[in-house]
Amino acid sequence: MRCTYCMPPEGIKLIPHQEVLHFGEIREIVRAGALLGIKSARLTGGEPTIRRDLSRLITMLKDIQEIEEVTLTTNALLLSRLAKEYRDAGLDRVNISLDSLRPDRFSEITRGGDLKAVMEGIQAALDAGLSPIKLNAVVIPGFNDDEVEDMARLTIERPLHVRYIEFMPIGDRRLHKEKKYIRTSELIERLNQAFSLETAEKGVGMGPARTYKIRGAKGTIGFISSISEHFCGSCNRLRLSSDGWLRSCLFNEKLAVDMKTPLRNGASLDELKELFMKAAGIKPIGHELDTRTELDFERTMSQIGG
Ligand code: SAM
Repeated sequence: MRCTYCMPPEGIKLIPHQEVLHFGEIREIVRAGALLGIKSARLTGGEPTIRRDLSRLITMLKDIQEIEEVTLTTNALLLSRLAKEYRDAGLDRVNISLDSLRPDRFSEITRGGDLKAVMEGIQAALDAGLSPIKLNAVVIPGFNDDEVEDMARLTIERPLHVRYIEFMPIGDRRLHKEKKYIRTSELIERLNQAFSLETAEKGVGMGPARTYKIRGAKGTIGFISSISEHFCGSCNRLRLSSDGWLRSCLFNEKLAVDMKTPLRNGASLDELKELFMKAAGIKPIGHELDTRTELDFERTMSQIGG
């Protein structure tokens, strides 16, 4: 897919295969982090399901003693045939991106994505027990904000957890200038008028989301206010890019540590642990996305990956 708000139609610049970390290298880096207390590994991208033999990586990460859960963020296009295989390989749960429930609009936003395949993927994930399943919707004014109520309805009959994400100024900068984002407070007010919302308990992996529930629903709805009420103070994430950089913040490319070069030069596990500490040490206190006018992101979300 080539989601319009995330990447240009021609896609992104590809990097040579040898620059991409191989599975053994990824495992070694995650192992160093795990020895320092990291308990959860999430595979994202890009689109992780198109990496050949991803199940093998899932098992390799799950086999690290200190790693308690391995999770995946995916567009779900291929999930109907892969969900069970991933579950058997050790995958704990999935996050699925879903920005529209209208086939035409979905295809337009994703430049060709097939909504039916995604819906089948969601059902396959439920059947395989990859729960709790979160559906992530980036809400963009004049783009898909008229569907927030329909998305909330998905949580009534099935244990699906819809999370509305504020549109962040990475990827398509022009679109962001034009459309901006909808504040969580505004969305909650709207949804409260349509349904009677109650505060829900934070379940497994609910991370930074503020979580509510439509009365009697099986699933929950959550809000991730990355911009209007950032949660940088409690952010405990580090992202490893496919080309081997350990990034301390999604929003600042410069706050990253090269893991690949030392690893390929024979760094020991202790040396990798030190590099992890370095990356954690340069985590910024907070981002300035709501106040900065000019942004200097060179990479799209899909290139940042993690
Ligand atoms: N391909 C996978 C997928 O579709 O979920 C994983 C990678 S995708 C870049 C991860 C998530 O980032 C998706 O839910 C996507 O909607 C979100 N995303 C991309 N650009 C964004 C932006 N500018 N603001 C907020 N979220 C964004």
